[in-house]
Amino acid sequence: MAQVRFDKVRKAFGAAVAVEGLDLVIEDGAFVSLLGPSGCGKTTTLRMLAGLEFPTSGTIAIGDRIVNDVAPGKRDIAMVFQSYALYPHMSVGENIAYPLKKHGVAKAEREEKVAQVARTLQLEHLLARKPRQLSGGQQQRVALGRALVRDPQVFLLDEPLSNLDAKLRAHMRAELIELHRRVGRTFVYVTHDQLEAMTMSDKIAVMRDGVLQQYAPPKEVYDRPANMFVAGFIGTPPMNFLSGEMTGEPGRAAFRCAGTDLPVSLAGGASPERKVALGVRPEDVSLGSGPFTGTVRLVEPTGHETIVVVESPAGSLVTRAGADVALAIGERVPFDLEAERLHLFCAASEARLL
Ligand code: ATP
Repeated sequence: MAQVRFDKVRKAFGAAVAVEGLDLVIEDGAFVSLLGPSGCGKTTTLRMLAGLEFPTSGTIAIGDRIVNDVAPGKRDIAMVFQSYALYPHMSVGENIAYPLKKHGVAKAEREEKVAQVARTLQLEHLLARKPRQLSGGQQQRVALGRALVRDPQVFLLDEPLSNLDAKLRAHMRAELIELHRRVGRTFVYVTHDQLEAMTMSDKIAVMRDGVLQQYAPPKEVYDRPANMFVAGFIGTPPMNFLSGEMTGEPGRAAFRCAGTDLPVSLAGGASPERKVALGVRPEDVSLGSGPFTGTVRLVEPTGHETIVVVESPAGSLVTRAGADVALAIGERVPFDLEAERLHLFCAASEARLL
């Protein structure tokens, strides 16, 4: 069992708090991404799990063992870094074999395992080369190979694709998904790239300023973001926020925005008159008809769709329209919001209401 558990983990570097009050359970065999902007504490979280940093307080467990005082080499983990950290003077085969050699594994067994990993990662024809004779993607695969050869319980990956170009990144994403499926181990993956997190993970832990904001499957993070930070961080272009206030009775509440009332069904009877922010994803705005009117400010064809920015009394809205939409800058356009897909947040706490 390689469930990973953080209990009330805090990490401070002097006065700077990198991680605060982290409670997180990563299920055995899951692929979990730690996602957030630069400085949110995701790398520190991973490094604490690896044993490269020590928590200021709290406990970290792998399986049923608390590992706070366990040396990195004894944690049954393998880490893949952004920089690959391959040994330049060693061949690919020697690089992959190195962790086994360090642990005193006999030559015959080493060779067998390296051959097996090379097959898995399609590196067989490259075993004699030096790292500098490889492409970025191949180097990344060698770095993965070096982790894989030890067959650890938990793989820790720190932005492993960030040095690759866009096309190769997409390819490696697919390879990582397949690799995870095949080896069936726990993967903890640090990234600031929401696309990587959304496409590969069973669950995403979204962090901000050292604090976990939401921990849920990708679809739930997208469909029901826990707060305005998560809502704005996940999704491209990002969610729009319109400010307004709630009117009417609980149960028959409406969102009043720019003189127009939008009925919203508020479960749990959130109080009326409360200052709220209405979240609307760009794909949930339809242009051409509806109770609102705005002025077209920007028309940006991307090929398969058109990003249209509309200025309205409720605020500026980024919308996604069809590839063949015929709109001119300055044109007045009516629009509607997909009532079933609106998100409502408390303006003060930024927490999700609906
Ligand atoms: P990035 O994506 O830029 O790597 P991150 O989300 O991984 O960011 P961390 O590297 O975990 O963030 O850093 C979290 C906070 O802790 C940052 O404010 C950072 O400056 C601080 N920090 C990290 N390591 C140290 C250190 N060794 N000494 C002092 N402060 C540190």
